[in-house]
Amino acid sequence: MDLGITDKVAVVTGGARGIGLAIVQRLMEEGCRTVAVDIDPSAASNLPDGAIFMACDVSDEQQCEQLVRDVDQQVGSLDILVNNAGIQSTLTLAEATVEDWERVLKVNLTSAFILSKLVVYDMKRRGWGRIINIGSMAGKVGGLTVSASYAGSKAGMMGLTKSVARTAAPQVTCNIICPAFISTAMTSSVTKAEYSRQIPVGRLGTCEEVAAAVAYLASTWTGYMTGEVLDLNGGMLMD
Ligand code: NDP
Repeated sequence: MDLGITDKVAVVTGGARGIGLAIVQRLMEEGCRTVAVDIDPSAASNLPDGAIFMACDVSDEQQCEQLVRDVDQQVGSLDILVNNAGIQSTLTLAEATVEDWERVLKVNLTSAFILSKLVVYDMKRRGWGRIINIGSMAGKVGGLTVSASYAGSKAGMMGLTKSVARTAAPQVTCNIICPAFISTAMTSSVTKAEYSRQIPVGRLGTCEEVAAAVAYLASTWTGYMTGEVLDLNGGMLMD
């Protein structure tokens, strides 16, 4: 199926590792001019040939403003934004501090607010755009192995997605994918016994499966889908 996104300019935050890297690879395969954004400049070496790297701490508003300017000037007008960068915290409610809460919220949620606000009006003016957020099943169920700050940030991401979707319409869509237990560094401590009890499909998901869902939402076939929460959890939660 031709996704119709050849030559579109795509930005993937947290794009140099894990799920983000797979999204970068997939969007490049679909013909997008793809910018991988990561906080760590040395992570650029993970990228495939042809990927464009830009260093940015997406929790910092000024760095995000500079990023959007750099993409516009060096690559072209941004068509597809994937808010994927995220960090985890495993602190219990008793252990967690306000600093921990704010650190996780800034990277996981505030970054998506800042970048969506920076790009959505220009996308609307140009008549087309896609904003795709990476949430988590933790945002729906309160988290399985993760903290209140992580679950809170991902629940907030669902509300942000729906609010941006209303503003973005009719030219631009905004949707959220909620994965659970995808095989990356973030889930390296999850044991097979732990997940095989809980996941009907009987395995962890792959980064490529998340990337395929992103490609679908980025495509020209999904103009009638916006504000949608797309689960990707092997059947752990069927709601
Ligand atoms: P990884 O930790 O493997 O990758 C996250 C990437 O984001 C890293 O490259 C990291 O950079 C980057 N990053 C972190 N903070 C910032 C920042 N402030 N600015 C820019 N980049 C940053 O995570 P995953 O690939 O596993 O997760 C990707 C997304 O998917 C996250 O939003 C996560 O919450 C979500 N998710 C993951 C699940 C899973 O099972 N893996 C399940 C559900 C949701 P660096 O490493 O260099 O610091």
